[in-house]
Amino acid sequence: MVDRTQGKIGFCGETEQLRISSIGAHFGEEPPISGTNGSGTIFFTGCSLKCCFCQNYQISFDGMGNYYTSEEVENRIEKLIQSHGIHNVNFVTPDHFFPHTIEIVKILRNHGIRIPILYNTSGYQKIESVQMLKNYADIYMPDFKYADRQLAKLLSHAEDYPDQALVSLIEMVRQKGFLDSFIDNNTIATKGVLVRHLILPGQIQNSKDVLSMIFIEFGKDIPISLMSQYYPSARLMKENNADLQFLKRRIMLNEFEEVYEHALSLGFTNMLVQYPQDFISKKDQTEFSPDFSQDKPFKGNR
Ligand code: SF4
Repeated sequence: MVDRTQGKIGFCGETEQLRISSIGAHFGEEPPISGTNGSGTIFFTGCSLKCCFCQNYQISFDGMGNYYTSEEVENRIEKLIQSHGIHNVNFVTPDHFFPHTIEIVKILRNHGIRIPILYNTSGYQKIESVQMLKNYADIYMPDFKYADRQLAKLLSHAEDYPDQALVSLIEMVRQKGFLDSFIDNNTIATKGVLVRHLILPGQIQNSKDVLSMIFIEFGKDIPISLMSQYYPSARLMKENNADLQFLKRRIMLNEFEEVYEHALSLGFTNMLVQYPQDFISKKDQTEFSPDFSQDKPFKGNR
């Protein structure tokens, strides 16, 4: 652990100075989040988890991004509200810049802007950090990547991921409840928690165990987003570690079906599902590999 306020670089790759790789309206989030006008995504440079399969490796590992002040970010958000009517402000993997996000929210509120503030996190944060956000967050959209400690260690060097993720998720739900779009007949979300899980190739038992863990703690009504979009990144394809070779393919239909059937058997009622058939049929698979050297990193938004 280093003191980043003293100019040192943390595990995340960043000092205390705010760096951001992309700000824009994003239409690829879940429907209650992106809606029709888009979600105002702010991709922070660096990451405190650094998963070896990261699809945003240009920013999480390679440090692509520029310095911003909180005022400049707030100004860009105001412009997105004027140009697109974005439904929310979406802080993507902001964990290592939580104090800066709080400052941005304060400036937005001083300017009378009240659109929902969404924290789109890795799931791996301390409960104290989530408590710090209580008065500044409206929506939490955490990942729940692993139930398997050994897998968490292998892919993210975070053997305690399942414990940390569960404790912080309990705090998020305690603060905000479940995502309100499900209660309110699929309208745009304004408050609550939506948990995301990305199915990884060959790791079906981990996915099933994640779903079981969440079900046991929160019951069948917790909103879940089950994602099958995993695509091996260019960085991962160069990986020589024999233990990571299983990540060099997409998930197969039968893998998705096994996880999905498990979710259904548990009885989850508020599920958003990304069916792999939607991707397999697409000719242009690069759609799932954002390029943060572009003004608009996501093809669908260009
Ligand atoms: S937490 Fe998300 S952004 Fe960070 S390295 Fe893992 S996949 Fe990438």
